[in-house]
Amino acid sequence: MADEAPPPFGLSHRLKALEARLRCPECGKGRVVHVAGAGLSCSACGARFGIRAGVPLLLSERSRRELRSDLQTATGVQMVAEYQAVEPSPGKPRPTSGWRRLLRPPDVMYHTNPGMRRGAARRIFDHRGPGTLILNVGGGPTRYSAEEITLNLEPFHNVDVVGDAHELPFLDDTFDSVVCNAVLEHVGQPERVVAEMLRVLRPGGLLYAEVPFIFFFHGYPSDYRRYTREGVRRMFAGLAEPEIGVAIGPVSALLQSANMVVAMLVPNRPAPLRRIVNGGFRCLTFAFKYLDKLLVRHERAHLVAGGFWVLGRKPDPEPEVVPGPATSTR
Ligand SMILES: [Zn+2]
Repeated sequence: MADEAPPPFGLSHRLKALEARLRCPECGKGRVVHVAGAGLSCSACGARFGIRAGVPLLLSERSRRELRSDLQTATGVQMVAEYQAVEPSPGKPRPTSGWRRLLRPPDVMYHTNPGMRRGAARRIFDHRGPGTLILNVGGGPTRYSAEEITLNLEPFHNVDVVGDAHELPFLDDTFDSVVCNAVLEHVGQPERVVAEMLRVLRPGGLLYAEVPFIFFFHGYPSDYRRYTREGVRRMFAGLAEPEIGVAIGPVSALLQSANMVVAMLVPNRPAPLRRIVNGGFRCLTFAFKYLDKLLVRHERAHLVAGGFWVLGRKPDPEPEVVPGPATSTR
């Protein structure tokens, strides 16, 4: 896709419309404003922030420090390499092109809604009409819609803003929808992240999140926890009328674990042996994952599910109580 030339101040076209809604992550008070030729600056505390290829780097000093050490761990380095490999560049073959895709062993996981376009999740894209403004916390390199704002830890492919989910760099009540898929298991303080997502949502706005339950360790950049259905309910108690469902079914959870165990029984070298055993296991078992199409609706699916989704609304502000004339019960 040929991107239009970046605007003179360097922000991407998606963020241009939100320029007035950027909030300083350093003090949480000031608006972030553009300083001619010198990046961005906070109107209250004067903190300075850079822009890289149209992507504002809105991290506080503390976040920057923490992030640097997280990304230097073995799993952090792996994550950066994986995300950078998605970066399209002229002459580089797409990682999933041609015969490689044909030879790749089938996936043993069935996700009920990978593109978010089915079921309850669909509403987040258009519940406020065609201009519905969406923030994808942890978005990029994955992007669900052309117009959503994606936030991640580094300016990876498809990232619009670099920021920390614990201190979202946006003013209160900015977005119509917030999406947060497979992120909460990777953050230090998930309660704070949920509170931040609610803060930047407009009243009546929709929050959609997915979290893993029976799912293997995956460091992006690290991995700290899992959620039961009741844990999800508690975590998102701030939502009005939350709906919770199974995003990854029990069979997928089982097959993934079995695949990992089988891989452990095979020596690391020679690598071709490993690939044959791993691919063989997946070829023999992947078809069972389609049982999850039925099982995700089973009343006991939540006991052994691979993960859950939750969708709910930010409550409207409490109507102001006008005190009536004082009455006495005596
Ligand atoms: Zn500030």
